[in-house]
Amino acid sequence: MEYQGSCHCGRVRFSFRSPEIRTGARCNCSLCVRRAAVLSPTYIPAADFTPHHDPDDLGTYLWNEKVLGNYFCKTCGTFTYIADGENGKDGYRVNLGCVEGLDTLALDIRVIDGRSVKLVEAPR
Ligand SMILES: [Zn+2]
Repeated sequence: MEYQGSCHCGRVRFSFRSPEIRTGARCNCSLCVRRAAVLSPTYIPAADFTPHHDPDDLGTYLWNEKVLGNYFCKTCGTFTYIADGENGKDGYRVNLGCVEGLDTLALDIRVIDGRSVKLVEAPR
């Protein structure tokens, strides 16, 4: 399926192809508990994801040995997606609350134990 996403104010837009989304994920790591987002259950391959066209609209918070880029709208502050690897080459995880046509609270939610997972090695 083709999904469209946007931040709260509508400045940041993105789209992706994915099998129908029926589940969501929440994570207990120190970052995710603070933002309480429902995430896509998996990373979406970079080939299936179209990020926002203008990097100037996006703030980035690099975390987890600086390999996970957490993107948010500079205008309204909405967290929109996570890019894994340099320029998202290893895929994107999406804030499902930004995605049109999804009722995130009606999804079957799985909890990721991010708090216990060892941080990944930074690429050299
Ligand atoms: Zn916005």
